[in-house]
Amino acid sequence: MCGIIGYVGPRVAREVVVAGLRRMEYRGYDSAGVAVIDDGKIELRKKAGKIGNLEAELQRDPLSDTEIGIGHTRWATHGGPTDENAHPHISANGKVAVIHNGIIENFAALREELETVGVPFQSGTDTEVVAQLLGREVEAGADLAAAMRTICKLLEGAFTLVAIDVTQPDRLVAARRDSPLVVGVGTDENFVASDVAAFIEFTRSAIELGQDQVVDVNRELITITDFAGNPATGKHYQVTWDLSAAEKAGYDWFMRKEIFEQPRAVADTLLGRHGEDGALKLDALHIPESHLRTVDKIIVVACGTAYYAGLVAKYAIEHWTRIAVEVEIASEFRYRDPIITGRTLVVTISQSGETADTLMAIRHAREQGARIVAICNTNGSTIPRESDAVIYTHAGPEIGVASTKGFITQVTACYLLGLYLAQIRNTMFGDEIAQVMNSLTAAPPLIQKVLDTLEPIKDLARTLLGKPSFLFLGRHVGFPIALEGALKLKEIAYVHAEGFAAGELKHGPIALVDEGVPVFVIVPPRSREQLHSKVVSNIQEVRARGAVTVVLAEDGDDEVVPYADFLFRLPKVPTILQPLVSVVPLQYFACELATLLGYDVDQPRNLAKSVTVE
Ligand code: GLU
Repeated sequence: MCGIIGYVGPRVAREVVVAGLRRMEYRGYDSAGVAVIDDGKIELRKKAGKIGNLEAELQRDPLSDTEIGIGHTRWATHGGPTDENAHPHISANGKVAVIHNGIIENFAALREELETVGVPFQSGTDTEVVAQLLGREVEAGADLAAAMRTICKLLEGAFTLVAIDVTQPDRLVAARRDSPLVVGVGTDENFVASDVAAFIEFTRSAIELGQDQVVDVNRELITITDFAGNPATGKHYQVTWDLSAAEKAGYDWFMRKEIFEQPRAVADTLLGRHGEDGALKLDALHIPESHLRTVDKIIVVACGTAYYAGLVAKYAIEHWTRIAVEVEIASEFRYRDPIITGRTLVVTISQSGETADTLMAIRHAREQGARIVAICNTNGSTIPRESDAVIYTHAGPEIGVASTKGFITQVTACYLLGLYLAQIRNTMFGDEIAQVMNSLTAAPPLIQKVLDTLEPIKDLARTLLGKPSFLFLGRHVGFPIALEGALKLKEIAYVHAEGFAAGELKHGPIALVDEGVPVFVIVPPRSREQLHSKVVSNIQEVRARGAVTVVLAEDGDDEVVPYADFLFRLPKVPTILQPLVSVVPLQYFACELATLLGYDVDQPRNLAKSVTVE
């Protein structure tokens, strides 16, 4: 939620800042703003709407060339998406400018106190209290970093803050609690940002800050302390991808590019998973195998698309390990007093590693004694740092707000976890595990095959354009894919879409089926005879009631042919692995339909990529 960047160095700061904002726009696009310091005063431009509006404003009324600048792209939580509420916010005394990601939960009480002593407010945001508090500290003579530490102790909630002081045009001070912040380490220049994408053009050397830390940055020095002022250290790392990964490479949308990157993303996620003894291994596993053998329940905790990856995991992990798996929406988890013991393993799935609901859920689970395994795409982010083990999905940066390669690699990582647990608990024979691993390794070229045959989906989207409602049906692992197919349409094409377990249809939702309603059906492989024949019956049931049937069935499945108004062929794969191929045409359909409708596929309304507020 929200992208933050700060720059200090010899380049023209406003240019670096705006370019960085462009690369983080997926994090929020309600408004954007930039502040620089020139000649003893803060210059500010900010505009509601996407970054294009800010750029137009900068054309009309340029900012000075300076060596320091901060910028923000907002996903509004408090106060509407207006020019006034756009960040940066400047203290009433003009001393400091501040940008913020997160929510200051006690802002109302702080604001009231400040207003009582006559501080005037200009916006409806929670953030402005930070600017006012900092401005007063600095005016009273405090050093900017000391002032930041003082006020952070007053704040409740989640925040990344970056501030500049008008009297020190060579220094940025930033703080973090439960929201992301990385420092980009350059030569004679430094950066602070929510995401390495913001500065990847200039440096791949990064420092991830820990919780409750303040960083003081100038051109040469990076000084980290905790909120009490004690020296602290961050985690240095090298970013493994480059600028091209964060650009569209000729595609119209990041989402389309990311759909086409899926074979490589899955292959990379599978890479290097075998130790010298041939046994399966995971990334950073700090849970003893002896403990994993005692686990008697797994709870997968996630949100949105990652939650659907968790639903796929349930089928695979229960089947392979015979451990009971519950799958829970993170925002519901901690409020229902879940049953957790020292033998519970909590698996969290989050692309960004910063999802606030998921983070709070794992903290709760830890307090109850559970061990945590994180499945995550972002190196060094908060959720893996606070987990006992991590499986990184090597999808590369995912910028389209609607997740695609993020999802498919999460599913892949869930399979790896299931097989790993089966290995150490001896619930599968070694050759069975090897067989599944072989099928997994064979998946990327099959996903490519699906990508090579997507052309007819474009015609399908044209045919179904204007339909007000879409239904998706699946059984077994096809059920979460039906949910995911529907979610993709809702997210980017803004049409009503619902996914159902195919067998559940007759218990209610079939009443929605009417003449011309498109119903997408994911048909399991014929090898699962019972499952297959049930789904074939479900297709006939909806067709008899006038549905337009869009059938996804494996190569050679002729039984479905008479009942399919539109038939898309999937390569043959084992049933449990079918999500890796069946989700792809659904993602592409959503992308096509949204494009035809003229929507911004990468930045759908009301959404932001990484949801860092609860
Ligand atoms: N809560 C702040 C606001 O609504 C920051 C939101 C954000 O993270 O973009 O302005």
